[in-house]
Amino acid sequence: MSTESTIPQDVTVIGGGVAGLSAAVFTARHGLDTLVVDAGESILQRNAHLENFPGFPAGVNGQQLLDLLEEQAAEAGCEQVTATVTTVEETENGFAVETDDGARYRTEYVVAATKNTVGYLEDVDGVGVIDRGKAYVDTDERGRTGVDGLYAAGRLAEKPHQAAVCAGHGAEVGVTILEDDDRPFYHDWVAPEGYFTDRGRDLPPGCAEIDETGRTDREARSLDVMRSRFTEPHPDEQETHPSLRE
Ligand SMILES: Cc1cc2nc3c(=O)[nH]c(=O)nc-3n(C[C@H](O)[C@H](O)[C@H](O)COP(=O)(O)OP(=O)(O)OC[C@H]3O[C@@H](n4cnc5c(N)ncnc54)[C@H](O)[C@@H]3O)c2cc1C
Repeated sequence: MSTESTIPQDVTVIGGGVAGLSAAVFTARHGLDTLVVDAGESILQRNAHLENFPGFPAGVNGQQLLDLLEEQAAEAGCEQVTATVTTVEETENGFAVETDDGARYRTEYVVAATKNTVGYLEDVDGVGVIDRGKAYVDTDERGRTGVDGLYAAGRLAEKPHQAAVCAGHGAEVGVTILEDDDRPFYHDWVAPEGYFTDRGRDLPPGCAEIDETGRTDREARSLDVMRSRFTEPHPDEQETHPSLRE
């Protein structure tokens, strides 16, 4: 028997790899209640050292990047659960998302970001599944599927098999939901004090201006977080292809 969550989510992201977590950061930062349901098997765990993700000149441990993204999603206000989604169903007000541990979540928007897993979408009419040996979901250039409120992000949306591209696409899908939802939103920007307002402009929705104290406080916090994350090698063992596991 499934347990229905009492509080409906605005956005449920299925798949907490780089694409799903990046989408979640954007929706949560702009006030949409966002849940990420992830089975814990991002393909990035198989990477041996990630050398082409922007901002890491000597590369970064792939699991470390995923951990940082999870922390960033939590900081933005996302709820995150570990479970496998078994079905998505359309309802009067959006969707119901069911997991293998018997939970049922109601949600207005769904972001599917599960790389090549699509079975949980089979009860939703109008989703274009493309089979090229592996399965992908047909979307427009902003990640919209043929079903209102249902989006696909990252590799699942046929993006190139690169972490930076999939993260960027996830972010784009997050912004697309904000636009489709008619949220007051201009850009997700943090600007120095007066950047807009000292030029006679209202602060655009989605933007923040911070003064020098606010800026140095935030930088100090970011240094603390990064120091704690990058003091020691990541403790997890290197993953490889499942067929090579004993
Ligand atoms: C060996 C190897 C090395 C690589 N090296 C690089 C590299 O050096 N540079 C680079 O740019 N890219 C590299 N990649 C590719 C990169 O890892 C992927 O392109 C990227 O991770 C795709 O992101 P994604 O979010 O679309 O998918 P993923 O990161 O795979 O995330 C999908 C998530 O969905 C979850 N999921 C699936 N089904 C369900 C379900 N039913 N319910 C809930 N959750 C579900 C999974 O558990 C997973 O966490 C490498 C890949 C491999 C295999």
